[in-house]
Amino acid sequence: MKNFRKTRDELTNRLFQMFNKDIFNNFFHPDFSITWNGRLTRTAGYCRHFTKRENGIITFESRIELSVKVVDTPCRLRDTLIHELCHAATWIIDNCRGGHGPVWRKWANQALHTFPELPPITRCHNYEISYKFYYNCVSCKYSIGRHSKSIDTSTHVCPVCRGQLQLSKEPSSRVNENAEVKPKDKTPRTPNAFALFVKDNYAAIKSSRTDLPHAAVMKLLSAKFAESKLKLV
Ligand SMILES: [Zn+2]
Ligand SMILES: [Zn+2]
Repeated sequence: MKNFRKTRDELTNRLFQMFNKDIFNNFFHPDFSITWNGRLTRTAGYCRHFTKRENGIITFESRIELSVKVVDTPCRLRDTLIHELCHAATWIIDNCRGGHGPVWRKWANQALHTFPELPPITRCHNYEISYKFYYNCVSCKYSIGRHSKSIDTSTHVCPVCRGQLQLSKEPSSRVNENAEVKPKDKTPRTPNAFALFVKDNYAAIKSSRTDLPHAAVMKLLSAKFAESKLKLV
């Protein structure tokens, strides 16, 4: 899609102006920051939230980043931009983070109401990123995509079930790549993995550090959990 690369800035601008006017009542500043990021590979887009304080007045601001690698067609650009603008509205207009909760949903519904011909606005950008390499778990079929052979299968295991990983040119199942998309998927990653981690480690920490209150133990556990995740992938 060489052509798309040439026109994507102009198209982004046109789509932004249209969405801003028709969905968000021109709430966003015309210079609202939307940039392309060549390193973003795990998601199509990203909305960064921050606050600015000037003369004691706090303003809520956001910035959107789009993935050069994933957003490579006009349709993906349109859908990703709407999704991320809904995040920005959630923060700037409603001053609420809330992920894909009811406030974000409200804006997504507003967008669909204005443009009923659009495909459903989903919680996640469920695009298949074409990776060169896949590391497939031999037991649970979970796939990890990589643009290079960056995982050492002799030391790294499946983040879901700790099974053995196998290098391949194809993911073991296209469905598994988008695990977050389906709420009833059997492999929700972080929450369950963390709950298990807490279950396995809470008693040990609590008994060795009887001085610590529950909140401090949990804080310690989440730090240890983050550490253990780093080793895995
Ligand atoms: Zn989102
Ligand atoms: Zn596995």
